[in-house]
Amino acid sequence: MDRVLEIAVVGCGIGGLATASLLRDQGHDVTIFDQFTTPEPSGAGLIIQPVGQKVLGELGVLGGALSHGVKIKSLSGRSQVSDRVALAARYDVRDPDQFGLGIHRGALFELMLKAAQARQIKIQSGHMVFGVDNPDCPYIRIEGNRQAGPFDLVVDASGGGSQISPLISVDLAFGALWGVVDLPEGERDLSGCLRQRYVHANKMAGVLPIGTLPGDPTPKAAVFWSLKRSDYDDWRSADIADWKAEAAAMWPDFGYLLDQIESHDDMTFATYSHGSLNKVHDQRVVYVGDAAHRASPQLGQGANMALLDASILAEAMAEYPTRKALKVFRRRRMLHLKLYQTLSLLMTPLYQSDRRLNAAIRDRIVTPFAQSRLGASLVGRIITGQLVDPFGGRRKESNQARQVRDILRGPGE
Ligand SMILES: Cc1cc2nc3c(=O)[nH]c(=O)nc-3n(C[C@H](O)[C@H](O)[C@H](O)COP(=O)(O)OP(=O)(O)OC[C@H]3O[C@@H](n4cnc5c(N)ncnc54)[C@H](O)[C@@H]3O)c2cc1C
Repeated sequence: MDRVLEIAVVGCGIGGLATASLLRDQGHDVTIFDQFTTPEPSGAGLIIQPVGQKVLGELGVLGGALSHGVKIKSLSGRSQVSDRVALAARYDVRDPDQFGLGIHRGALFELMLKAAQARQIKIQSGHMVFGVDNPDCPYIRIEGNRQAGPFDLVVDASGGGSQISPLISVDLAFGALWGVVDLPEGERDLSGCLRQRYVHANKMAGVLPIGTLPGDPTPKAAVFWSLKRSDYDDWRSADIADWKAEAAAMWPDFGYLLDQIESHDDMTFATYSHGSLNKVHDQRVVYVGDAAHRASPQLGQGANMALLDASILAEAMAEYPTRKALKVFRRRRMLHLKLYQTLSLLMTPLYQSDRRLNAAIRDRIVTPFAQSRLGASLVGRIITGQLVDPFGGRRKESNQARQVRDILRGPGE
């Protein structure tokens, strides 16, 4: 590093916190601007894949994430119509030590926020950023006629709703309702597996164990239910008991968990969209996470992509001056990103669509292949985020990587 840079990170989500911390570790002066009034996560739970776990290791929060999260060893799904296996994926096909980490967003956020605060990163809440002026020597425009800058670098990590990013994405017809429930005693042995049930591809219910929240020892699960954007208002205006009865009729074990859902407000509707920026930087402005690329969460990669962006951007910034570093960042991220965006586009309609043919292809061709030896290995590579090495072979067995692996092998077995 030739000098200390003044860096603004817009967005205090997964990508923003990770980028800010890793750039701060290089000695830069980093400020995070977020619209929220007090720091808070949004959403229920997610899976951090092995590639994302590595970045959590770099941030120093992997141990905490492992202590709150749940090791997910497999993803399984069944069609309630054909009674066929419709989703079969294992994490440990290629490496017995690998797993997805099911974690509550609140737990992950708290760990990452504390890590940023420990690095004395300034966090400016109540700052809704709606533009960047003069990208060569950037200022950020903040609601209320305010401005901050100039900065040496502005990182847009303000997610799918970014008002800075030029990305125009396509809205997907299906989204999903997400909620969090306590896992009852008898269900706790089911942790270790994400389970889904389908009716063709137009109905889908799922349960993902996500472990505990700080200060609350009761294990939780995220429950989710496919819903079209166009059907949300009808769902909202109908009696919640009708939906619970429909879900229970489709999958009684799922319906049993929904006993804890008392009103529509206990479920959050997440809409999905798809698209990515071809050029993720403009002079001294760079886009990471959902501000740069969006996809449905079928492959469970979005947070991992944001973490990888953060890690590879920081890597490039450590090696080159800013403008060159942004070009290198783009080049190093391109292949992995493009592959996963394409895969997401191909796979999503098999699980969320009105076309029965898609469900038949899923149940009769794709899943049987996924259960074969070759297929299982390929699917294992895909879900772990390692279809190609996102680090391009640059992260060899360093002391840090070894440390990360030791933590991964350590607890919970
Ligand atoms: C229902 C659902 C399930 C998912 N499951 C998975 C999964 O299992 N695995 C996985 O890897 N990914 C999953 N994802 C994707 C993942 O959540 C996202 O890809 C990830 O959170 C993106 O991180 P980010 O930092 O880019 O954005 P976010 O985490 O969305 O953070 C954006 C931040 O920017 C702030 N902000 C927004 N606008 C402004 C503004 N104008 N000014 C200032 N601040 C602003 C917000 O307040 C927020 O703090 C899922 C997504 C959804 C919706």
